[in-house]
Amino acid sequence: MLYYTDVAVIGGGVIGSAIARELSRYDLSVSVLERNPDVVCETSGRNSAVVHGGFAYDTGTLKARLCVEGNQMMDTLSRELGFPFIRCGKVLVGNTDEDMEQLERTMAQGFRNGASGLEIIDGSRLHELVPAVNGAFALFSSRSGILDPFLFTIGLAENAAENGVRYFLEHEVERIGREDGRYLIASGDDLFSAEWVINAAGLGARRISDMLGITGYRVIGSKGNYLVLDKRLSSLLPMPVYPVPSNTYMGIHVTPTVDGNVTVGPDAINTDDFSYYGVPSDKMAFLQESASVLWPHIRRRDVIRTFSGILPKWVDAEGRIQDFRIEIRDDIAPKAVNLIGIESPGLTAAVPIARHVISLMRERTELHLRELFDPVRKASRRFASMSDEERGMAIAEDPLHGHMVCSCEEVTEADIIAAIHNPLGVSTITGIKYRTRAMMGGCQGGFCQMKIEQLIEKETGKKAEDVCYMRSGSWLLAGKMRKA
Ligand SMILES: Cc1cc2nc3c(=O)[nH]c(=O)nc-3n(C[C@H](O)[C@H](O)[C@H](O)COP(=O)(O)OP(=O)(O)OC[C@H]3O[C@@H](n4cnc5c(N)ncnc54)[C@H](O)[C@@H]3O)c2cc1C
Repeated sequence: MLYYTDVAVIGGGVIGSAIARELSRYDLSVSVLERNPDVVCETSGRNSAVVHGGFAYDTGTLKARLCVEGNQMMDTLSRELGFPFIRCGKVLVGNTDEDMEQLERTMAQGFRNGASGLEIIDGSRLHELVPAVNGAFALFSSRSGILDPFLFTIGLAENAAENGVRYFLEHEVERIGREDGRYLIASGDDLFSAEWVINAAGLGARRISDMLGITGYRVIGSKGNYLVLDKRLSSLLPMPVYPVPSNTYMGIHVTPTVDGNVTVGPDAINTDDFSYYGVPSDKMAFLQESASVLWPHIRRRDVIRTFSGILPKWVDAEGRIQDFRIEIRDDIAPKAVNLIGIESPGLTAAVPIARHVISLMRERTELHLRELFDPVRKASRRFASMSDEERGMAIAEDPLHGHMVCSCEEVTEADIIAAIHNPLGVSTITGIKYRTRAMMGGCQGGFCQMKIEQLIEKETGKKAEDVCYMRSGSWLLAGKMRKA
């Protein structure tokens, strides 16, 4: 099939979806081409979920400027898109004279970058803020925070879709050509004819850049592994605790999640394999040992899950890590915005990155605002977040709120059904998990996963053997085991 679109955004992660949502403010047809069956299958769902303050990046870089801007707008975004965001603060903990010098340098850099709410605090104030931490003093950043990275990305994507953006899931871009001033983008049997192309393909961005003819970028993967700890530890960790950073690496930290778990990580291992997310057991032991120096409450029995993410780092010929690259190469690929090396703090900076992309486009073309843009995502409230009185009313209105599907996270059948009917048309198991938190509790889906699979069948008319876990081809059921 041949589709015509004004703008084709390649990649539907937090960056592609932020760009799509910002573009939907304008009078344009926008299509997002995403190779996975959902928008949080890669880096945007695999990170520390920290809203950074903007002090850790060299002054004058895009990373510094866009991070500070992203931090400032997060309260508004959280209200509009309905994702949990907590401005809980964060501490970088030190012990030695060298640590103090590095923290003072980091704070001064933060002020130069426009970050606010930074102060060096002594041990007693540190232990008031985080009683269970080891350390003599800290840099405290009161403006840092944590968010739900799944619902942030999903919120951007679903709000973009509500404002007219078309998502083409399971559409991997394989070739890009140019004919009569338009791009021709091939994905399976489909062709997209687009005036503009935006390369927001994350770990796949170098390949797309090559397809556009913008060659020569060196991008290395840095894999970070994590442990997820049970919610019973949440009271011991009111905010993220980091070690003193180096210039290139923030170090293994312990971070509360917005839902009350604790994550431990990441380490940083260079890799060429951009698709392997397994966490080896020796890395688990290493994370536990390293982070226990800061926060000595990590027990193997509290680990309920592991995960990992891979940062795409653009490096120069000497291997030095570079800034975000956001460019239009008029000489090689006019009307193509190329984003390379969107590593941390990409989550924090996603919307300012999107606005920067649009400012580059507006230097070359006129864009007209639409009156009908609605910034508020239309999502129903989760049963788990309601008061007892609200729960009673919700059950009276929809009795399916009286059927508990996931008891660990208090997710009802009505929550699951609402998630299955999402505006993107996602119907994978993890698609429902990330929208509702079902299967994220202590039993990790042991009790509810198959109930959710059956609800997907019932609501979408899919056959059991066609329901996938996360990626295309990750079928849950392979065939019949017994005849009767
Ligand atoms: C370990 C780790 C910790 C981090 N911690 C933080 C943090 O605490 N705070 C913070 O601000 N940032 C953090 N980040 C950075 C942040 O997660 C990323 O910058 C951000 O998620 C990048 O988003 P993206 O949309 O570019 O990438 P992705 O989410 O990977 O999206 C790119 C999309 O492009 C799709 N794609 C690729 N190739 C193709 C193709 N050929 N055709 C179609 N689709 C394609 C992929 O399927 C993918 O969905 C962290 C990252 C990692 C790995």
